[in-house]
Amino acid sequence: MRPVRLVFFFFAVLLLIPVPGLARVVSVENVRMWPAPDYTRLVFDLSGSVGYRLFTLSNPDRVVIDLHDARLVHPLPALGNNSAIVAGLRSGPRPGHGVRIVVDLRLAAQPRSFLLRPAGPYGHRLVIDLYDPAKAARDRARLRAMEIAPPSREFVVVIDPGHGGDDPGATGHMGTEEKNVVLAIARDLDRLVSAQPGMKAIMTRTGDYYVPLVTRRRMARGADVFISIHADSDPGRSPDARGASVYALSERGATSALAKALASNENGSDWIGGVNLGDVESGVGQVLGDLTKSATIADSLRLGDDMLPYLQRVAPLHSRKVEQAGFVVLKSPVPSVLIETGFISNPRDERRLRSPVFQEATARAIFKGLRRAEPWLLARRGVPLRIARAPAAPHEYTVRPGDTLMRIAQSHGTTVAALRNANRLRGSTIFSGMQLRIPAAGGRG
Ligand SMILES: [Zn+2]
Repeated sequence: MRPVRLVFFFFAVLLLIPVPGLARVVSVENVRMWPAPDYTRLVFDLSGSVGYRLFTLSNPDRVVIDLHDARLVHPLPALGNNSAIVAGLRSGPRPGHGVRIVVDLRLAAQPRSFLLRPAGPYGHRLVIDLYDPAKAARDRARLRAMEIAPPSREFVVVIDPGHGGDDPGATGHMGTEEKNVVLAIARDLDRLVSAQPGMKAIMTRTGDYYVPLVTRRRMARGADVFISIHADSDPGRSPDARGASVYALSERGATSALAKALASNENGSDWIGGVNLGDVESGVGQVLGDLTKSATIADSLRLGDDMLPYLQRVAPLHSRKVEQAGFVVLKSPVPSVLIETGFISNPRDERRLRSPVFQEATARAIFKGLRRAEPWLLARRGVPLRIARAPAAPHEYTVRPGDTLMRIAQSHGTTVAALRNANRLRGSTIFSGMQLRIPAAGGRG
């Protein structure tokens, strides 16, 4: 008995003694670069959390990162040449189990760095964001101006392609990444909106880089609508789930288990994409007040209703009504919807989502929904249609439950008399499902 105990005791003591030279050494396993318009992000994959020191040097401009108790597993990969800020990377050992990484810069960039804990497919990461000071200041000023600007006479559409950068979103069987599909659809929509007189598009991201959810919804302020575009997997991992669906915010639970699971996936995006916790908690993400909230949700549902009939012509609908869940990105004081353009986990949907023809058709369907929502959204904020845009061509409107001639006239920038005239109506009686001819708005106004 006794010797066994002694041996055990001996090993127990041995485990408690720190052995010099055997200190935990962190491996630098990989590096990725994500250039955004105003900054470039470098992400280092690490085998564990690391201590580091970061400083800048000039002549020539460079950033030096000393990682303590770390080693390179293999030489750092070449980063490509598509950053306006980062020219290249060099590395070398430091005395006493360290690694020095030198980032050669094209301009005197301002670095911000933070560590990320394991999330999604990634382990520990060190993130270095290198800002172009001139562009970052311009961007901040533009964002502030958008928030305090008097309502524009244009119909402003914020287009939000989901994910980006380190966050690929969902991945299909053929390796299709959601972030690329939704960017392609968003670009098509951007082109359509920008070509429409009286409409203006703002993209939350224009390339392959991550934008925090709070920044995305902050860009929605001062706009008329916010459209987030996605193509997720079925969280239940069923390859059968397919089709498009439209989501609005819910303040009280989700309308389905799928909606709930999708929202919780989407809300986790920041952890995978990589967000500095300080930014999230600094209050940029202040949520709208209760009073505007319910009104905005009602408008978001109506906006979604305007989209569904057009989406249905492009793809089967997964759900015929606008579903709701607690999507963080939709928490802004403007009507906001999140459109799942299809399930990338479904092989048929994936093939479709990859096709530029389908991407364009989807963008066109969303655009038609926007055109349908534009009159009532503009009327709501008191912008006369005549001023807001070029005269609309005559078109048809299907009467919905609760509509009155007066309301239809107002939201289409016309008068009750003109409506009566165009439709040869004697009284004011209309019924749900009735087709009304809407006369061209404006003209001489
Ligand atoms: Zn998504």
